[in-house]
Amino acid sequence: MGELADFRDEARAWLEKHCPSGAKGPGQLAWGSRSIALEADVQLWLERMAERGWTVPTWPKAYGGAALSRDQYRVLIEELKRINARTPLTGRGVNYIGPTILELGSDEQKRRWLPGIARGEGGWAMGYSEPGAGSDLASLSTRAERQGDQFFINGRKMWTSDAAHCDYIFVLARTSPAKPKHQGISLILVDMHQPGVRVSPIRLLSGASPFCETNFEDALATIEDVIGGVDNGWTVGKRLLQFERSTHAGINISGSQGGRTEVSRMPQFIRRYVPLDDDRIADANLRRGLIEYEMNGFAQRLTQQRAIEEAKARAPGFTSSAVKLTGALHIQSGDELLLQAMGTRGLGAGDGFAHEELAATRDWLRNKSLTIAGGTKEIQLNIIAKRVLGLPD
Ligand SMILES: Cc1cc2nc3c(=O)[nH]c(=O)nc-3n(C[C@H](O)[C@H](O)[C@H](O)COP(=O)(O)OP(=O)(O)OC[C@H]3O[C@@H](n4cnc5c(N)ncnc54)[C@H](O)[C@@H]3O)c2cc1C
Repeated sequence: MGELADFRDEARAWLEKHCPSGAKGPGQLAWGSRSIALEADVQLWLERMAERGWTVPTWPKAYGGAALSRDQYRVLIEELKRINARTPLTGRGVNYIGPTILELGSDEQKRRWLPGIARGEGGWAMGYSEPGAGSDLASLSTRAERQGDQFFINGRKMWTSDAAHCDYIFVLARTSPAKPKHQGISLILVDMHQPGVRVSPIRLLSGASPFCETNFEDALATIEDVIGGVDNGWTVGKRLLQFERSTHAGINISGSQGGRTEVSRMPQFIRRYVPLDDDRIADANLRRGLIEYEMNGFAQRLTQQRAIEEAKARAPGFTSSAVKLTGALHIQSGDELLLQAMGTRGLGAGDGFAHEELAATRDWLRNKSLTIAGGTKEIQLNIIAKRVLGLPD
């Protein structure tokens, strides 16, 4: 106990001294992309935290981490939150592919990739979905043909978030087309700065382009870029998905972002928009909805805590599907509740709306994707039924 208290004192003092003011509160987040310039304080914060191993606090020191125990990790996150510090580094590098390499990569792959990921050197895209393969991911048709120690990759990946600003992509590709569909797939790391990789942003209604289509035309990778063995990509790719889902669920303790959902500010916010009766919300339905929402939020925080404590690795296995799903549904129910309370003020666009009203509308729309990204709600329910509850296939 004393050691943990000492660690807290030391971490607190160091963070207070070294976290620049421009890395506190909402603002820019570093995620490794080489083509996005970082603000000076964000860059400084990244460098200082990486130097200490705290961008990936639980990773071994040899790979850029600080080898913190689970308790020390929890304390570090609490201390970061206490001073309102932003995570120094986020993204698919530290949260998805990094922990996958750490668990399933060879020693050589760990040495080659992990220290750079921990320092935020390169942004990573995720090449899973295709026009004909989303929920039924094993139907993917992108091929990686082997010639000697090289692979030539051909195919088309859809919805590759942020790919226009990424430097690397981890790709699920078919390496043995003759084998049954789950058995002939490999997870391959691909350098995106080569002529065989072409990225086309997909423009959304809003005008923004967070998604891309990524085409491979004889893109090159080598046998050393295959994680977990050739034709073993289904197992490796599923583990990576658990890291993704755990990140969404706030229960991945690879990066420095983990930790539970914040306590909600919903009651205070809603009260500004609805009639009060003797200082309490007049509408009984809304009161009931709000109480339910707050209780679910409390239960979600406890479940996150339990999932982290019970996990035998940096993220749990199938449990990640359950916590991701309940977390997403909780957020969406909050958005609906807000809309119910705010009425037309919660459907803002353009002038005449306060910043937080526009944000509520945007969140309501954007958060609908939480039950699609990383596997849809139905897919998580299937996994929970089969893998957690043991129901028949
Ligand atoms: C914000 C966001 C970011 C994303 N980023 C990436 C990324 O970076 N890289 C990447 O590879 N992909 C990404 N995706 C794609 C995402 O993984 C897919 O959208 C998702 O897996 C669903 O696939 P689909 O869109 O093809 O839908 P489909 O699989 O066609 O599903 C359509 C509907 O059918 C239902 N359905 C399908 N199969 C079953 C079943 N067996 N049982 C019950 N219902 C079923 C689904 O639940 C869904 O409601 C992203 C998606 C979003 C929304």
